[in-house]
Amino acid sequence: MPRSAIREIMALASARPNVIHLEVGEPDFSTPTHIIDAAFDAARAGWTKYSPNAGLPLLRDLVAQHAARNGRGAPPTADQVVITTGAIGALYSSLMAVIDSGDEVLIPDPGWPNYEAIVHLAGAKPVRYQQQAARSFLPDADEIAGLITSRTKALLINTPGNPSGAVFPPDLMARIGEIVARSGIYLVSDEVYEDIVFDSAHVSAIADAPPDRVFIVSGFSKSYAMTGWRLGWLICPPSLSSIVAGLQEPITSCASTIAQKAGEAALAQDQKCVVELRETFKRRRDIVVEVFGNTGLLPATPQGAFYALIDIRSTGQRSLQFAKGFLISHNTAVVPGITFGPRCDDYIRVAFTTSDQELREGLQRLRAHIEGLARSR
Ligand code: PLP
Repeated sequence: MPRSAIREIMALASARPNVIHLEVGEPDFSTPTHIIDAAFDAARAGWTKYSPNAGLPLLRDLVAQHAARNGRGAPPTADQVVITTGAIGALYSSLMAVIDSGDEVLIPDPGWPNYEAIVHLAGAKPVRYQQQAARSFLPDADEIAGLITSRTKALLINTPGNPSGAVFPPDLMARIGEIVARSGIYLVSDEVYEDIVFDSAHVSAIADAPPDRVFIVSGFSKSYAMTGWRLGWLICPPSLSSIVAGLQEPITSCASTIAQKAGEAALAQDQKCVVELRETFKRRRDIVVEVFGNTGLLPATPQGAFYALIDIRSTGQRSLQFAKGFLISHNTAVVPGITFGPRCDDYIRVAFTTSDQELREGLQRLRAHIEGLARSR
């Protein structure tokens, strides 16, 4: 497993006092109280044993209902749902279910670094497709179609996207659905940020892709500020759900039963907390636009998730060198773009996972640093 550049920055940042953290990829709020209470109640009521491999039946049912809001055709059934240890567990399970050694999997560049690692771990070869700034960090469906060979087993997509905040529009998702239907590959759609979309609506791959070919990955980490509970889900093609459920036994047996009871409360009760979380991130996205909007350094306004990519080409520095220098000179941590793929070295990622005030201060430092380096060249 390659050492991630983000770990280098985090190690440097942890050794310094009063750093502004714009590198952290998780909500800065606590899990809503009613969800925590449900976990306490469940533990006291004896929900402290293993659950079935595929998860608790009520939770699977709630996830199926939740996913039905994203679809157009027949809604997924609870049988298609497997509860996993985080969305990462869902990603790994989907690939382990369909990959044979030597297969190729198409992954985004830039994209979340764990995709490359999971594909390697599953014994396959990652092949990157581009999500260029010039296309607002969205993929080009024709390029994807052109990369599919007889060795390609799956296409992995991510919307809303980490690290750019790009959100796939309906026509792009429809094109991807057609490509998957025509080529017969599997589509793994990571939608873990599905509830954090600002100016449009989330478009799930469940709406367009053939049901026997699509895996939907999502979970509780981002929508309900539950990263530490390690709870996610996978919606499988109907014929593969029992294989994916069986795979849980050697991987983790099942997701934490107490966390699953908390997950039931999260999905079944009032969704006000999700609305508040989305509004908070939208307000902070607007702060990013306020500080960077007219500088030419923000190539695309983030449409979802809680990240933005900032262009550092004018500084003449590579992204790791830039992130280290910026941390040392301005006590503010950002993630070097190279973490997300070879074509992202011209950018650094900021996360809006700190207070509005700290975010504004950190972004102003970042802007001043980039403009200062550009002037001094
Ligand atoms: N997918 C993406 C794109 C992510 O950014 C993350 C976490 O940062 C995950 C999946 C993992 O989510 P979980 O914490 O539910 O495993």
